[in-house]
Amino acid sequence: MWVTCFSPSYSFRLVSTLRTSEHRSPFDLAKRPILEAINGASTECLPYFQLLREWVRECDQSHECKRPTGANYWPTRVIFVGDPDPDKLVLVEKRGTGEDYVTLSHCWGVQTEETRRFCTTQDNYQRRLQGFSYNDLPKTFQDAVRVTRELGKQHLWIDSLCIIQQNQEDWKKEAGQMENVFASAYCTIAATSASGCRDGFLKPDLDSQHIEIQGIPGRPAYVSDFDKDVGEGPLSTRAWVLQERVLSRRTIHFSAEQTYWECGSGVRCENFTKLECPPGRHYFVLDANFPTRLRTAGHDRTVDFIKYLFKKYSRCGITFESDRDVAISGLVERIGASLETGARYGIFTCFLADLLLWKRSDGEMADRIEYSGRTVPSWSWMAYSRGIDFISDPTLVVPPHTDLCFHNNKPALIVKVRQFANCRIEQEGERYAIVADTGKMVGTLWFDRGYIEFRHCVVIGMRKDNMDDARKTYYILVVRGKGPGQGYERLGVGEVEARYVSKKCNREELW
Ligand SMILES: [Zn+2]
Repeated sequence: MWVTCFSPSYSFRLVSTLRTSEHRSPFDLAKRPILEAINGASTECLPYFQLLREWVRECDQSHECKRPTGANYWPTRVIFVGDPDPDKLVLVEKRGTGEDYVTLSHCWGVQTEETRRFCTTQDNYQRRLQGFSYNDLPKTFQDAVRVTRELGKQHLWIDSLCIIQQNQEDWKKEAGQMENVFASAYCTIAATSASGCRDGFLKPDLDSQHIEIQGIPGRPAYVSDFDKDVGEGPLSTRAWVLQERVLSRRTIHFSAEQTYWECGSGVRCENFTKLECPPGRHYFVLDANFPTRLRTAGHDRTVDFIKYLFKKYSRCGITFESDRDVAISGLVERIGASLETGARYGIFTCFLADLLLWKRSDGEMADRIEYSGRTVPSWSWMAYSRGIDFISDPTLVVPPHTDLCFHNNKPALIVKVRQFANCRIEQEGERYAIVADTGKMVGTLWFDRGYIEFRHCVVIGMRKDNMDDARKTYYILVVRGKGPGQGYERLGVGEVEARYVSKKCNREELW
C-alpha cells in the first residue's frame, strides 16, 4: 500500500526555481503560465510541462538514477524530433554522441490496415530515412514527440517506428536488444491511459491546465492512488510492458487521472505530493539500476520478488502467445547476470526448486503454447498460457544437485522418478486430494491441463519440520513417461506425505 505524503520542501524548491520576482505567493506561481529559458532560447512554457522538467532536473541533480556518463549504448535507429520544422521527423541510424534518447512504452491496440500504415516497414523504410510527417502519426506517437521536445530532447525511440515491421530478421535482432534500449534511455514515457496508438495520452485542454498544489489549508487535497492509476491502467496489462517498466531508469506515467514521475527515489505526483514507497516488492521495481537492489536483498526477498514478477507477467495479455518466452527474456537475463546464476526458460539455477513449484492459478486451465521451431519443456511455466502462482515454503529443503539439475546440453532436467504408493486421488474443485488407502487425506495436487495420469512423481523439495522422515511433506511434480527412451514430462505439481512415495527411483530426463 502506497502512502501519500505532502512534501512541502519539494514543492517550495520547485516553486523557487521559477521566476519569483513578479509574484509574492509561491502558490500563485504554479497556477500561472510562465516564461523560462530552455536551452538558451526563451520559450513560452506551461506549468504542466514545467513540472515534468522539474522532476527530471531534480532527479538529474540529486539522485543517481540517470544513465552514467560514458555509458555508450545507442539503439539501432531512433527518431530525430529536433528539426526546426516541427512537422518534420527523421528516422536516423547514426550513433548519437553523448546525446540522450527517450523511449515510449505503449499499447499497440487492435491492429488494422490503418494502424499498420503508421509502422516502419520495408516499403517505407528508405523514405523515412529522408523524413516523414508528424501530422501523419497517430495521437499517442504525436504526444510522445511533444513530451520529448518539451523535455528538451531530440531523439525518441518507438518500437513500431524503429524496428522494421514484418521483417523477422530485424525483429529478432531488435527484440534481443530491448533490454538495453530501455535500460539506457534518458527516461521512458509510459502512455499508461492509452489503449492503442490512436488514443493519445496528453489531455486535450493541456494548454489551459495548471497544477494545483495540494496540502494547503482550506484547499481540498485529493489522494493519489498510484497502484490503481498506473497498476491497473491499460498499459500495465500488456506482457511486453513489464520489462520495459522494470528496466527503465525513470518513467513518466501518463495515467487517466494524473501524471506521475517514478525513479529510484520514489514516486512524485502531479499534485505535488510524494509517495513513500513501502519496503516491499515495488522497491525493486523502482531501482533505476535494476537489479542492483536485488543483489543485497537476501535469498527470501529475492525469490519472492522473482515469483511476483513471473506471476504478474503470466497474467498479462500478449498478442502472440509464442512471444511468452521472449517478452521477458531481457529481464530474466539481467537478473541472471546480476545474481551470477544461469536461467533456462524462466527458471533460475539458484532458485531451481522454488521456481519449479509453479502451478496454474486457480480457475485457469493452462494450454500448451505452440512454439514453432523451438522447444519449451513441460517443466517451464513458459510452456503454457494463462496465469501462474507458486507453492511457496520458506523452509523448503532442496535435494542434492545430483538428484535435480539442468541437463548440460538439452532442454531437459535430470531428475529421479518415483511412484506413488498406497494412495489414490479424488477431485475437489480446482485441485485433487491425495487420499491414503485408509481414507485419510495425505496431500494435494494441481494438474496443469486437467487430469491425465497419477502414477509417477519427482521430489522437488521437502518441508523442514520436526516430523519423522515418513511423515515429512514432499513437494512433488507429477510426471508421466513420454514413451520408450523419450524421458518424462510434467503433468502437475503438489505436496504429499513422504511415506506415500516410493523410495526406489530411476534417474531420468524430464522434458
Ligand atoms: Zn531519481
